[in-house]
Amino acid sequence: APKVEEKTDGKKQSKLGIEVKKDENYSEWYGQVITKAEMIEYYDVSGCYVLRPWSYAIWEGIQQWFDAGIKKLGVKNCYFPMFVSNAALEREKTHIADFAPEVAWVTRAGNSELAEPIAIRPTSETVMYPSYKKWVQSYRDLPIKLNQWCNVVRWEFKHPTPFLRTREFLWQEGHTAFANPKDAEEEVFQILDLYAGVYTDLLAIPVVKGRKSEKEKFAGGDFTTTVEAYVPVNGRGIQGATSHHLGQNFSKMFDIAFEDPSGNGQKVFAWQNSWGLSTRTIGAMVMIHADDNGLVLPPRVACIQAIVIPVGITAKTTEEQRKQINDQAEKVVAELIAGKIRAEADSRDNNTSGWKFNHWELKGVPVRIEVGPKDLEADQVTAVIRFDGKKRTIKRDQLVAELHKTLEEIHQAMYNKVLESRNAHMKVTTDFEEFKRLLDDKFVLLSPFCGEPACEEEIKKHSTRDDGDAGTALMGAKTLCIPLEQPKEALPEKCINPGCAHKSKAFALFGRSY
Ligand code: AMP
Repeated sequence: APKVEEKTDGKKQSKLGIEVKKDENYSEWYGQVITKAEMIEYYDVSGCYVLRPWSYAIWEGIQQWFDAGIKKLGVKNCYFPMFVSNAALEREKTHIADFAPEVAWVTRAGNSELAEPIAIRPTSETVMYPSYKKWVQSYRDLPIKLNQWCNVVRWEFKHPTPFLRTREFLWQEGHTAFANPKDAEEEVFQILDLYAGVYTDLLAIPVVKGRKSEKEKFAGGDFTTTVEAYVPVNGRGIQGATSHHLGQNFSKMFDIAFEDPSGNGQKVFAWQNSWGLSTRTIGAMVMIHADDNGLVLPPRVACIQAIVIPVGITAKTTEEQRKQINDQAEKVVAELIAGKIRAEADSRDNNTSGWKFNHWELKGVPVRIEVGPKDLEADQVTAVIRFDGKKRTIKRDQLVAELHKTLEEIHQAMYNKVLESRNAHMKVTTDFEEFKRLLDDKFVLLSPFCGEPACEEEIKKHSTRDDGDAGTALMGAKTLCIPLEQPKEALPEKCINPGCAHKSKAFALFGRSY
């Protein structure tokens, strides 16, 4: 148990609290939040982190919700090996060209070199599709709709950040195969809607749904769809999850085919999708919602939604009174649990209530419920909301109903706060000078774009701001997505890149990104 560092009920800062402001140094702040809230433990392999119960519980919440969603679409879970042979990995050329620099290899077992090095999956298209070939002979064998919850390894060389960019991460990867392109494409967007739901309905984070540009799409696929979130503190976009339509590229390489059902004897390759959502979700949640006092958990994923704390116990409190208060706290918890609210009591008597307030604030529990002698007398409890610090009393007989309402209100308020900030920093612009200026003011921009990878490269180059000091260089903008819902404005003919000779095709959402 953490050491008691203060004896007063005041909100004096202790070493246990966050010692740096989010606005002043968000990367140091982020590190403190995730360690002090007991989400992460550091590990001695760079880019790998221990997920402690406090963060893993959030992952479990996301898993439950998303798993139920895909099962309704007929997807089943399975598990494939984490190792992949070189031959399988190399079969789709564009795919491997993109992933090759990040693939980790096993080259040795004990003291002996392996005859053939074996790769660790960076994603499992090449692991799963040899089996799909075996399972598909007729159109009747389709669709195949499989998903696995697993880890993948990508030996990234960009600076690692817990949850957001790690070398090993947990995710789900869905891999489906269909007998026609229409069904496959329809599923891409059904999954995208579920991904949007993870962010909006669970994590209280608004997202923009869109397609990736040619430059940013999944290598080897036909098109990639994405949900993109906005991080107010640094104005960056963050790719929330991706749902890819692979077309027939992989099925041709892996020979996943069936005979044309019309009986013309022709061989038809399957149309495939793959889609993934990772533990990055948790990082986005922290970056977006946590504040100077620590984590702020969205109620629907909080593993404790209400923490019940006995208060008003002093040196003068008799043993009987103390027991009464503690019993009352336990009763409140039992009631809440019966009412389907995730609640716990913190009745540890080696910590002051002030210490507990700080502790659970740091851990981001949405509602703190105080039970003290005065509350006992008045047949009420005091509830304090983590998100806005507001305090109110709730009558005991209305507790469960009131708390359900409160948790919903918190979810909505958290979502609205981020939405307002996002909307205030998302603007349509057709002027590249304004584009660059607003980018530095933490904006994401909706601008006309021709879609050419070379053009995107130039936009990135010209929007990189290097102040000469290595620490202040700011990366250039890339397309976050081409939003499915386009701005109401008429699309100008000219692409945002002043040097571009092509016609614009759509408004793209540009921003600095993770
Ligand atoms: P991809 O297979 O590249 O489309 O990735 C699927 C999802 O995994 C992305 O949308 C990201 O949110 C997430 N992701 C990709 N790379 C990482 C990483 N290094 N750490 C955590 N999450 C990642």
